[in-house]
Amino acid sequence: MKLFDTIIDATMAEVEKCDVKKLPVELSRAWPDNGASEFIMQKDSAFELGGGTNPSVNYTCVTTSPLMESDEILLAGPDLSEIKGEVPFARIVILQTEDLGDDSEEQYRAIRDMEFARYHVFPKGYMVRVSSMSNEEQVRVSKEALKKGISFAAVGASYIKKYKEVANVKHVRVIFLLQADTVTALKPYAGKVNDITKTLTHIFDNILADCGHCDMKSVCDEVEGMKEMHLGLAKKKDRKE
Ligand code: SF4
Repeated sequence: MKLFDTIIDATMAEVEKCDVKKLPVELSRAWPDNGASEFIMQKDSAFELGGGTNPSVNYTCVTTSPLMESDEILLAGPDLSEIKGEVPFARIVILQTEDLGDDSEEQYRAIRDMEFARYHVFPKGYMVRVSSMSNEEQVRVSKEALKKGISFAAVGASYIKKYKEVANVKHVRVIFLLQADTVTALKPYAGKVNDITKTLTHIFDNILADCGHCDMKSVCDEVEGMKEMHLGLAKKKDRKE
């Protein structure tokens, strides 16, 4: 599946313009998970990532292209222990999966499962608020968690662990980025990821492929593989009837 490959390439081109560090990936040192979202009060908060007027963005892309040989956590900017106030924030996740074959339903299911994982990571003392409308993500980090040594390596490991529970996920790249201009430059890609995901939902809800009367045409014209996926599904349905 290569529906997101253009976005992944454009994202990495932006990320590589920054001073990026590769953090160690140790899943055994993932930050403890709270099991559910927790509320951190303002008085207990050390700072907010993406808070105030700072730009923020979050999105997840999936590919079968062989991008990585192992899991990766990349950081452009200071680590949590070095942050003194509100800062810009992007968290981008790129998932490399096993070959999902030509089965469109399998591909769609994989994307849905990965979306689920995206919203089910709750590091203790790291309160995540996401806006699916604006694709923003704000994180309130507690003073307590900072005292206990929370870091992007530990939080990144928590995300990797969760994603690797999803069938077919081979490697995960988590990118934390705290540079205002790059966060702003990445924002449009979050919109494009949403468009692709919405179009996939449309495809699976409307088996009949009628491009002449479809609101998603601009997305399918732009994203390679989208029309093929819909036509493949329609053919499969015809065969079953
Ligand atoms: S392939 Fe055609 S009918 Fe299907 S979502 Fe794209 S534009 Fe719409």
